Amino acid sequence: MGPPGAGKGTQAVGLAERIGGAHVSTGDIFRANVSEQTELGRTAQRYMDAGEYVPDEVTNAMVRDRLAQDDALKGFVLDGYPRTVDQVETLDGILGELDGEQEAGLDAVVALVVDPEELIARLLKRAETSGRADDTEEVIRHRQEVYTAETAPLLQVYGERGLLREIDGVGSVDEVAARIAAALDL
Ligand code: ADP
Repeated sequence: MGPPGAGKGTQAVGLAERIGGAHVSTGDIFRANVSEQTELGRTAQRYMDAGEYVPDEVTNAMVRDRLAQDDALKGFVLDGYPRTVDQVETLDGILGELDGEQEAGLDAVVALVVDPEELIARLLKRAETSGRADDTEEVIRHRQEVYTAETAPLLQVYGERGLLREIDGVGSVDEVAARIAAALDL
């Protein structure tokens, strides 16, 4: 977990490699569907371009399908999901259903902590090169607000479950990766 620009994608890819599991990024799956112009992509694009969350029923169905695929049965790193309280409940249900095929439940929730102004600066820099439609300053600021309102409360939920590992997200990619590995005893 972490606000937009915290480095979730970069770290999640590295962590998935390290544990030999699947990297499941809802943002990546949405973007792939947008470029393939699928129906899911057309639905998602309207929300993404505005910096809004895609509706829970759309996102939840997609994650349910993805986690049932073979590579995810060995283990996975979820990147950008869950992002709402409703998604937490759905994920609990999905993991419960998968019980028997693998250990149910999450091992840990890694939260990257980065100062808000540093985040905006990072995202504006990324906007110069990414070509992502959701990388304009207005949309970037809106996405931070949506994160604070919808997703930040999940930190408390996972904190109460004893799963939360808060990691300083400022530093080089390797430094942050090392902090994550240490926090997860990898
Ligand atoms: P970030 O830059 O924050 O890492 P992502 O690449 O994970 O962003 O996601 C890009 C966009 O895709 C989000 O702003 C949102 O519109 C949509 N999205 C991704 N994951 C979810 C989710 N779990 N629930 C709803 N919308 C999502």
